Amino acid sequence: MARGIKTMRTRLKKIIKTSKRKNAIAVKSSKTLKSSSVKSPVKRMKVSPRKKSPSKTVKKTSSRKAILRKVSVKGAGPIRKISVKKIAVGTSKKIIVRKKKTEAEKAKIKVLAKKKLKKIRANRPDFLEDKKYNEFLLSVVGEEGIEVAENVSFEEISDVELAEGMDLKANIIRKYLYALYEVGVVTYRRHRSKTGWYTYYWKLHPERIDMALNEIAGKDINYYETELRQERENQFFTCKNREECGRVIFDHALETEFRCHKCEKKLEFTDNSNIIEGLEKDLARLKS
Ligand SMILES: [Zn+2]
Repeated sequence: MARGIKTMRTRLKKIIKTSKRKNAIAVKSSKTLKSSSVKSPVKRMKVSPRKKSPSKTVKKTSSRKAILRKVSVKGAGPIRKISVKKIAVGTSKKIIVRKKKTEAEKAKIKVLAKKKLKKIRANRPDFLEDKKYNEFLLSVVGEEGIEVAENVSFEEISDVELAEGMDLKANIIRKYLYALYEVGVVTYRRHRSKTGWYTYYWKLHPERIDMALNEIAGKDINYYETELRQERENQFFTCKNREECGRVIFDHALETEFRCHKCEKKLEFTDNSNIIEGLEKDLARLKS
């Protein structure tokens, strides 16, 4: 026990010397002093010549707090500076996270968003009733996505307003909006607030649905026309396992001496008039 106190004393001496640096060790020393003062205040006095009365113990604690404060301020100083800098550059997310909206503010935003959406739906554009457009949008974003599309107006609306008004998560709203953007039906404008936070305002462009539809139809028409030409210009041959082996054109059948290149069974001429008929119908539908 006595040896223990002795080592503690030497340790404390060392610690007090370094305490001038006001670093983490200083904090540790005051901790040790405090615990030893409970057991033996006299000893503590001896090893701590700077302290002249037991009342200093209180002061010690307060000075420890002061050190802690200093350390923390000292430590936090540059870190805080960096974070401020970062915010100034544009990592505004931090600000948004810190400035959490109160429940009342949130409720107000929701009410306003719902009002706006109600107004938009009241002036719902006619084109959404069009079956062709509806089918197209359905193929792009699905049913939930169509609801989002219906709430995007000719006037701008932010994805946050859409999320609040539709009780959907903002990331889900954005997923649909980006899909609609990809096919060119909506456009967006990015606005940067004073806090550096970006808001995206979306706008509907129904006239672009026509463009998108024409583009898709154009691709389909090209495809069907090529297929039809091939069917008309060629004679096809098949084996008995048509489903598995497929068809070959006359030139290829000749090369293999009218034997299937897969199962080696005999190849026979196969009528493709029903295929041609089907392609003609598809084309007519696309061009209408
Ligand atoms: Zn075959």
